[in-house]
Amino acid sequence: MSKREALKALLDYIDDHCCWGRRPAKKLEVKSVTSSTAFKYQIASYTETRRIHGGWIDDDGEVSRMWDIAVPKPFYPEDEASNPVEYEVDSTYDTKLNHTEEVWTCHRCRGSGRVRCTRCRGSGRINRTDSEGRQYRANCPRCYGSGRVTCGTCDGSGRLVWYKVVVTTFKTIFDDYIFMTKMDDDVIHAATGDKIMFSAGRRVGAITHFEPEEVAQNSKRLVGRHRGLNNGRCNLWRMTHKLQSVPVFEVKYELDDDDGIFWIADYPAQCCCICNVPGCFNNCHKCNNCVLL
Ligand SMILES: [Zn+2]
Ligand SMILES: [Zn+2]
Repeated sequence: MSKREALKALLDYIDDHCCWGRRPAKKLEVKSVTSSTAFKYQIASYTETRRIHGGWIDDDGEVSRMWDIAVPKPFYPEDEASNPVEYEVDSTYDTKLNHTEEVWTCHRCRGSGRVRCTRCRGSGRINRTDSEGRQYRANCPRCYGSGRVTCGTCDGSGRLVWYKVVVTTFKTIFDDYIFMTKMDDDVIHAATGDKIMFSAGRRVGAITHFEPEEVAQNSKRLVGRHRGLNNGRCNLWRMTHKLQSVPVFEVKYELDDDDGIFWIADYPAQCCCICNVPGCFNNCHKCNNCVLL
C-alpha cells in the first residue's frame, strides 16, 4: 500500500461510514506505510451432553444406559469450507426413559378429576346485565352452574403418569485466538482475511511449525481444551478449525504539526468498523456501534 493509497483508504472510509469530516484528513500528511499481518485462529467443536431429569443416576450402570438411548442427531453441514465453523444446530431433546413410569394421584385435583371453576369462582352463578341495564344472576356458562370443571392437568382422570426423561443437548463450543499486537482484536474479528488452513474431522490436530510461534502454541492449547470436551458427561462429535491472515497497514501521519499513527485492516473494508482514525466518533450512522480504537 502506497502513501497515496493509505490516504485514499482513509478518505473512502470517512465518506462511507464515519461522522468525521474530510477536512482534517485532507490536511493530513502520510509519512510512512508499513504492512504487517494479523492471524485469526478459530476452533469449533460440536458436542452432545446428556443428563437424566429427576436425578436417576446411580452406581448401577445407569449412566451408560443413558447413552444407549437413540436420540436423533441434528443435521450439520458437511461443506464447512463454505461456512467453516458455524453449526446452527444447537438444540435440546427430551426422550422418555422406558420402564420408569409411575402412576401418581393428580396433584392439582387430588384425584377427583375436577377443579373449581375460575369463571364463577366455584359458586356456579355469575352477574349479568339485561337490555335495560338491570343486573341479574345467571348460571355460569363455563361450568353450567356446577361450580366445578374438568381438571386440565390430568384431563379428568385424577391420575398422572410420571416418568424419567433423558435430556440431550447438542451444542457447538467456539474459541479463538488473534495474533496482532497493535490493533484491537475486534477489528481483526470483523475482517474477512485470507484462509491459510482449514480442517475438519472427528478430531483435528493442532497447528505445528508455524511462524509466529504463538499461533501454533495457542492452537495446541485450544485443541487440547476442545479434545478434553470428550469425557463421561460429554460426547465430542466433530471438530473444525481454521487459520486466516488479515493484512494490516500501519500509517504514520502528520496533522497540524502533530505526529500520529492509524491502522487500516482488510482494505477495502468488509465492515464499517475497520479503522482507528483519530477523532472518528464512536457512533457511525451505519451500525451505531463503532468504537474509537
Ligand atoms: Zn387432576
Ligand atoms: Zn363456573
